[in-house]
Amino acid sequence: MNQLKTKRIKPHMLKTYEFWQIDEKFLVVSPDKKLCTMTGMESLTASESGYIAYAYLDGTMRVAFLGLCDAVQDTYEFFDSDQILVAPAAMLPYMLVRLVKPTKELEQHPFVRSILSYHESDALRRSTLALRPLDSLRDRLYPGVLKAAWIRDEKKLEKNFNESVKACLDSAMTAGEQVEEVNDKSADPGEESCKELFPADELPIEFVRITDLIPSNNGTWRATLFDNIPGTRKKKKGDAVSVSKVTVTVKEEEREYTMLFVDVDAPVEGTAIHVSSLKPSRLPWRIAYALSCTACDFHKTYYLGRSGEDSLMFKEILEEIRLGKIDPLIVIDLVQRSDCELDFSRELYRCRSCGTLDVKQRLRLVTGDHTLSMTYNCPECGERMSHVKRSHIASLDCPDCRGPLNLVEESLWDGVAPELTKNN
Ligand SMILES: [Zn+2]
Ligand SMILES: [Zn+2]
Repeated sequence: MNQLKTKRIKPHMLKTYEFWQIDEKFLVVSPDKKLCTMTGMESLTASESGYIAYAYLDGTMRVAFLGLCDAVQDTYEFFDSDQILVAPAAMLPYMLVRLVKPTKELEQHPFVRSILSYHESDALRRSTLALRPLDSLRDRLYPGVLKAAWIRDEKKLEKNFNESVKACLDSAMTAGEQVEEVNDKSADPGEESCKELFPADELPIEFVRITDLIPSNNGTWRATLFDNIPGTRKKKKGDAVSVSKVTVTVKEEEREYTMLFVDVDAPVEGTAIHVSSLKPSRLPWRIAYALSCTACDFHKTYYLGRSGEDSLMFKEILEEIRLGKIDPLIVIDLVQRSDCELDFSRELYRCRSCGTLDVKQRLRLVTGDHTLSMTYNCPECGERMSHVKRSHIASLDCPDCRGPLNLVEESLWDGVAPELTKNN
């Protein structure tokens, strides 16, 4: 049995609709005799101690049972890979689980690796999952399907824009509730037209379902129509359409609402990325820091900094973008904006939970009006890592025994860091 290296995790009920919270997470599933009696679950090995499972989004939310887990000792053991059983999460709405953040060791599982590489290859489509304000527009069972508004008569709407937006929001809310009710009854969003779901009203607005929402060039969004739009022949079900994302603040409620509008006349933009590397005015020094523990035999050298343009590292970053290994919010800006620059330097990161030290690229996207920093998670326990400033390197504690680390040597370095080849 292997030990789960996580900080204390609280048990909670699996809510399958909150897909964004459990996507790509491991679950410690409490033993439940009923599990093996559910349709399709008969072949699951009965367990008194519980299971280790993996939750992921593949059209709908799914839970793959990967092995046995002792929920008291936090130890686990994977099944032989041919025994993996995948269940739709909607089938298991009342499972008692504890969420475990992904670690390098857990992600070694072949099934999990295949899901992750599939997700990475789908990074553009998945990027919009990171936009929290869109959650309420998503179908609860099929999060890739969203509801959008289509304005039949723009001039009529503009006459009294603010009132229209408020009324539009109200009807969007009602329409949303109705969609959810319908979906609770049937698991398949299927062919039925949206027309029946949304009440016809005075507003020159229709609601349609869209799918494959992705960022596109020149600050636009694009999607595929999931339904025909009643009243127009310009676009039909299955066509690519331009979509705009509008956020309005309703003052009385002090709340922000985000809506998607389908524009049948606007050109559908492409998704090419043009990006250059930022030339910093002052380069981060290329220094190798050798750290030694005073209490145990921990000793490691960290090669930090960047040399000039560092075209080698920039090329690696471009490859990572191509492979979908970049934070979704950065991906969205890279596609939508033409003024993006990437700043990067090999810098030291420390896990906020277990103190593990690791060298990361410290990738930052810099645009005319904001910057976005790539986030990094601990390979040992899955928690967030923080950037260690150069001036703090001399006062770190040992990741193995928590004793003080000594900075035994600082030296300039050149060429390719020995770690760089090991990390990738
Ligand atoms: Zn950690
Ligand atoms: Zn130590």
